[in-house]
Amino acid sequence: MRRTRTTGFMREFFGESRILNDNLIMPVFVDENLDGRRPIDSMPGIYRHGLDELHSYLSGLSEVGIKYVLLFGIPSRKDSSGSSAYDGNGVVQQALRIASEVEDMMAIPDLCMCEYTDSGHCGILSGQTVDNDLTLDSYGKIAVSYAASGAGMIAPSGMMDGQVAAIREALDKEGFEQVSILAYSAKYASTLYSPFREAADSTPSFGDRKSYQMDPANMYQALREIELDIEEGADMVMVKPALFYLDVLAMAKETFRFPTAAYSVSAEYSMLLNAVGRGIVPQGAITEAVASIFRAGADKVITYFAEMLASGNLSD
Ligand SMILES: [Zn+2]
Repeated sequence: MRRTRTTGFMREFFGESRILNDNLIMPVFVDENLDGRRPIDSMPGIYRHGLDELHSYLSGLSEVGIKYVLLFGIPSRKDSSGSSAYDGNGVVQQALRIASEVEDMMAIPDLCMCEYTDSGHCGILSGQTVDNDLTLDSYGKIAVSYAASGAGMIAPSGMMDGQVAAIREALDKEGFEQVSILAYSAKYASTLYSPFREAADSTPSFGDRKSYQMDPANMYQALREIELDIEEGADMVMVKPALFYLDVLAMAKETFRFPTAAYSVSAEYSMLLNAVGRGIVPQGAITEAVASIFRAGADKVITYFAEMLASGNLSD
């Protein structure tokens, strides 16, 4: 076996999975209230971008070989119905139009309401709980608005039951049959989202998201969630987070043989970067971690390391 592991050509030749730029998706935060960029304290190296500098930032990503970005918007206005999410001139809609001018890039809008509701919850409230079915109507409206702004793919992340079917139906009805859906199918109620909530300003004002996100204890339930999304018309499914859930990812890929993405979330980024920064592990830990997600079965990996990996700035 050692023959296949010698350095150089031989090791590369026998490599089973490789980190390719085409398979990386970089999350991007766009802030309607901002001019220029602002660092996110809990995620060193990651910024919120104002609409004024978005084109130049995305062009830079494109130049290093990043083709796909996942867009998150921070709107200037929040209300109880999250109405700025489907405003034709909303932050993501504007960002989509800017991104469409960048060569060789597809921007995928994340579709949720937690950045847009004053409660910080992922849908519309009835009393103190999110009303699943009322929220589905809004998700449909948001999807159509994103498609009308040029999105070729939409990524619903709210974990409402029936969200993929509702979005598919709304898109088809408005003539957007070609717009595909990347579904956050198995999204866990994870502790690893904390830095993201600072980044996207989406902390719930009360309670938590355990009623709609999955219990980390469950694997077979994730398969059921994924199966439902495939039945409802998802074009690609997703497991989120990634590193603590590689078993779920591997089983999902083996079970369905369906296009599958994994989202390596904010704290996965911050923990690794922190460990590298303090000299606890070498920089190669980053490549090893991302490679493990591909090895587990991901076709696409959403990671805050995408830009760094594509730039080739990482050593072993
Ligand atoms: Zn949400």
